[in-house]
Amino acid sequence: MTTTTNLPEQRLPATTGAFEVAGRTIGDGFTLIAGPCTVESREQTLTVADVVAAEGAAMLRGGAYKPRSSPYSFQGLGREGLGILAEAKRRTGLPIVTELVDVRNLDDVLGVADVIQVGARNMQNYPLLTELGRTDRAVLLKRGLSATLDELVMAAEYVLKEGNERVMLCERGIRTHETAYRFTLDLLAVPALKERTRLPVLVDPSHAAGRRDWVEPMSLAAAAAGADGIIVEVHSDPENAICDGPQALHADDFGAYAERVRTVAAAAGGGVELAV
Ligand code: PEP
Ligand code: MN
Repeated sequence: MTTTTNLPEQRLPATTGAFEVAGRTIGDGFTLIAGPCTVESREQTLTVADVVAAEGAAMLRGGAYKPRSSPYSFQGLGREGLGILAEAKRRTGLPIVTELVDVRNLDDVLGVADVIQVGARNMQNYPLLTELGRTDRAVLLKRGLSATLDELVMAAEYVLKEGNERVMLCERGIRTHETAYRFTLDLLAVPALKERTRLPVLVDPSHAAGRRDWVEPMSLAAAAAGADGIIVEVHSDPENAICDGPQALHADDFGAYAERVRTVAAAAGGGVELAV
């Protein structure tokens, strides 16, 4: 990982602004993306998908390929998981956001993803970014655990450079000296990135907080800070989730949560992208 902070000027100024994904506008209004961390089973995924669709989420998230810190942890259902996401999409009409971990799975992921997520641990996987730049799919690029904003913007440039202009950036918490929570959610990244690039900027409060009760305050703060949207983890049975259960919102609480987030987003002037 480079530690350079004075990177050369962007070769391709990001001039894309808002863009469409499956009929939804990203970057003009507030986009709420919700769903489980991981596709664990058909029943779990469809249950959560039904709830978030009914409560007005604009897109469904869910990982079929998971980048886990331990190689002994569950790595995702892979192609079976993609099939479940495809069913959730047919059933709810929600566009799918799912992660591509390994470029060898690109064709499979292209079969279902409307937005391809690049996880924090892959932010500087330049061959992966270049391949995504050659696809027609929108990209959600998460900030690396220790990445500067310069490095995040330059990683986005790898996608833009190949001609794919539909890139959204995502602040998901960075590693600092603070150990009281999982990561430090750097909300100044929102105005700073928006000043520097016209790419939509989303916030992931779930992975920063690591704890359910901290997800809503950070979501409201992100909306107030002018984020173009939130990607949040929701589970029907978080106590028994395979991955990231402690930070997942209970599906039963999602509707009220979404309403409060929308209220703040509207007050912050973002407007609301509703799919109800
Ligand atoms: C995720 O979205 O489930 C995830 C693994 O996020 P991150 O790459 O930000 O850790
Ligand atoms: Mn997760």
